[in-house]
Amino acid sequence: MVQAVVGANWGDEGKGKITDMLAEKADIIVRFQGGANAGHTIVNDYGKFALHTLPSGVFYDHTTSIIGNGVALNIPILFNEIKSITDKGVPAPKILVSDRAQIVMPYHILFDQYEEERLGGKSFGSTKSGIAPFYSDKYAKIGFQVNELFFEDTLKEKIERVLVTKNILLENLYHKPAIDANELFNTLMEYKEMVAPYVCDVSAYLWDAIKAGKNILLEGQLGSLKDPDHGIYPMVTSSSTLAAYGAIGAGIPPYEIRKIITVVKAYSSAVGAGAFVSEIFGDEADELRQRGGDGGEFGATTGRPRRMGWFDCVATKYGCRIQGTTDVAFTVLDVLGYLDEIPVCVGYEIDGEVTTDFPTTGKLEKAKPVLKTLPGWKCDIRGIKEYDELPENCRKYIEFVEQEIGFPITMVSNGPKRSDIIYRNR
Ligand code: GDP
Repeated sequence: MVQAVVGANWGDEGKGKITDMLAEKADIIVRFQGGANAGHTIVNDYGKFALHTLPSGVFYDHTTSIIGNGVALNIPILFNEIKSITDKGVPAPKILVSDRAQIVMPYHILFDQYEEERLGGKSFGSTKSGIAPFYSDKYAKIGFQVNELFFEDTLKEKIERVLVTKNILLENLYHKPAIDANELFNTLMEYKEMVAPYVCDVSAYLWDAIKAGKNILLEGQLGSLKDPDHGIYPMVTSSSTLAAYGAIGAGIPPYEIRKIITVVKAYSSAVGAGAFVSEIFGDEADELRQRGGDGGEFGATTGRPRRMGWFDCVATKYGCRIQGTTDVAFTVLDVLGYLDEIPVCVGYEIDGEVTTDFPTTGKLEKAKPVLKTLPGWKCDIRGIKEYDELPENCRKYIEFVEQEIGFPITMVSNGPKRSDIIYRNR
């Protein structure tokens, strides 16, 4: 069976923890989109890890970790990530990289930096990992697939052809040094050495695995609102963050994805620019940021402070719908235990009218939050294993959110560890 674990919001919902937990019963974990621009934080018996490229299953010796064709593959980062986990005593994971995955080129990272500099105050708040230039090139059909590393003559020719336009932009738009074709070729030969042991026809591998009845997890990066089609365009990422794209980015039949577990955090946080209706500021935000997640709401890749907000029912209802949610995993609920009262955004007021439908970006920019305040539970809920043992106000909070978003909350996460989970039969 194939299950997808995806986010309903802006990312950082706790997908890493949920995937890591579900990985216990999974044979294969696949990353199907995105690149090293975001990270999952995973806490387990080996320590605390921020993974940017590897799927969360690398900590189990019974799982195969796969980088699907939809991923923006940064080969040196993959290589170093494997090293960093084995250095900490984790057994060498079984990793496969799609021969159709495309490679983040050194110039993608440069172009990302230079373009953000050029845009100045109007920049996208990119993590400068080269993701937008990478996907632009992929769809402009001048990207490099992993399999191309193994055809040296055609690779050389293609490098020269692609560098013609890259160098014109580098020298004339950004006033930076041109790239030397030989140097780039040599770099790619180093990449080939690094990636060669892992290269595989992933789609064929997964086809066989599905036929053999294996348990497969598709692990999404970021969340619905960062999807380039259905998110807060243009303040989105450059690859689809939706479970449906899992079929394409892994190379499996769409009808095989039977469960879509959408991860939803009990409050909101976001990184980068863009409308964030339920955002809070000042001391209120600082307190939630410090207490949030596991050790504060700061980017796993960048360390930058996340923007904070109350739970947003409008955005989450939409985010769950667009994912095709079968199950909601409601995470980081324990963090809210300090609040006397908990505001929740239940509607958007746009030009004097209140809606619960998530609008397109222009209207979203004008939206003001309609807040409802629920009573807090004022205690620590970590360690609780049974739903019925949660304080009444905590259950009321969960049930209120479930009612508003219209999708069943079947898991409640009350701490960062794998075992901090409460299952709920719905
Ligand atoms: P992802 O990108 O969706 O995987 O989310 P991140 O890993 O960036 O952010 C989730 C953060 O919250 C990490 O630091 C996790 O260890 C932590 N976390 C996940 N679930 C819980 C939870 O239920 N409670 C607490 N306190 N922290 C959690």
